[in-house]
Amino acid sequence: MIYCKRCLYPMNHPYGLILDNEGVCSGCRVHEEKDELDWPSRFKRLEQIVNENSKRAGDRGFDCIVPVTGGGDSYFIVHTVKNVLGLNPLLVHYNPHYNTKRGIRNLANLTTVFDADLVTSTLSPALLKRITRHTLRRYGSMYWQVLAGSLTFPVHVAVKYRIPLIVWGVHGWSEQTGMFSHLDEVEMTERCRKEHGLIGISAEDLIDEAAGVARQDVEPFRYPSDNELETVGVRGIYLSNYLRWDAKAQHEKMIELFGYESAAQQRTFNSYEDVHCFHSAGLHDYIKYIKWGYSKVTDHASREIRLKRMTREEGIAMVERYSALTPRDLPLFSDWVDLPQEEIIDSIWNRRDRSIWNRGDDGRWELLDSVAHHRDDHGVDAVRLCVKEPCEYRITQSAEPDAREDAYLLMGRGYVDKYDFGALADQPVPGGLTPRAWERPHIG
Ligand SMILES: [Zn+2]
Repeated sequence: MIYCKRCLYPMNHPYGLILDNEGVCSGCRVHEEKDELDWPSRFKRLEQIVNENSKRAGDRGFDCIVPVTGGGDSYFIVHTVKNVLGLNPLLVHYNPHYNTKRGIRNLANLTTVFDADLVTSTLSPALLKRITRHTLRRYGSMYWQVLAGSLTFPVHVAVKYRIPLIVWGVHGWSEQTGMFSHLDEVEMTERCRKEHGLIGISAEDLIDEAAGVARQDVEPFRYPSDNELETVGVRGIYLSNYLRWDAKAQHEKMIELFGYESAAQQRTFNSYEDVHCFHSAGLHDYIKYIKWGYSKVTDHASREIRLKRMTREEGIAMVERYSALTPRDLPLFSDWVDLPQEEIIDSIWNRRDRSIWNRGDDGRWELLDSVAHHRDDHGVDAVRLCVKEPCEYRITQSAEPDAREDAYLLMGRGYVDKYDFGALADQPVPGGLTPRAWERPHIG
């Protein structure tokens, strides 16, 4: 396998990498733009786009939609849109059902501290289980519904509420592999959603009577028609094209300003991004490793190398520490999706990219290569970046230190008060209302 001589990406990266004559990948080269572009003028360009497209739509005067989760870059995007650009966003959340309590708390806190309305889509658990059993068996994916829902529901809301502008955070494909330059100002399209976001699988592809997935079941995941999009003039822009994207620094600012909660993760050192989901940096990430021989820790370490906070050797040490770890969340997912653990493993085990995995005569899979073998490749030193600052990820104190993260939380209370969202201390009693110390107000 050929690896980039600067970051840790292998050439079998599913988004596609191009190496230049120094052996540096397209992702690293596009990243260099972060230190070259005139960001103040890029931001002015963003203000211009926003002014032209914000509509003050409906009675609540929404200017734009911001898709959010209880993790990732949501706080930073909402902060930028609301506090810096001065817009009135409608927050839109697709409920992936794999929620941690921390994620629900982050989401509740998000809508509270930013004083913003939130629209959530919670699909039927039975439907999501049926779809996930199907995508797992057919494509080895436990995450299709999460990706499809998160990329589609905000567009549905844009059409329904007639709010044309959707503000996304980072264009992940350019961030990882340099698919586009920042200057291309690439926008969200259905093609981008299907080819990159949904690993080439559209909602219609899932319809299968034998598997119990009917057309109406995939309706929530179908992209609106061209006609609907054109009538409203829907347009999805990425903030990362207009301001210098640095997820780590952004999360730290959000921790300081708004109490965003971080948490240690199973399969990566990055404690900021996947805190809302049990599987994002767990079983889902392990499946990526099974398929491609690399995982999230490679994404995160490559990013830190490019942002001059980690040496290539430190990044390799992180990959060696995390990438092959067996995740602990398989039993939880197995219970939810109602499939035996063995069947889940069976459905992913042989979906390996043969350019990096080899099956021995004894039937065991082994990695043919690893970035660790390319530590001292010729040319690595010639393209090395100087580390400018240390790479330390913070783990914040939990707002509910006694709450156990051992089951999905489908929903939580959506406001902040002394009960800490009620996920632990404020459980309802069976057959009755939640006991509270309050007095009935005198009416009339
Ligand atoms: Zn690279």
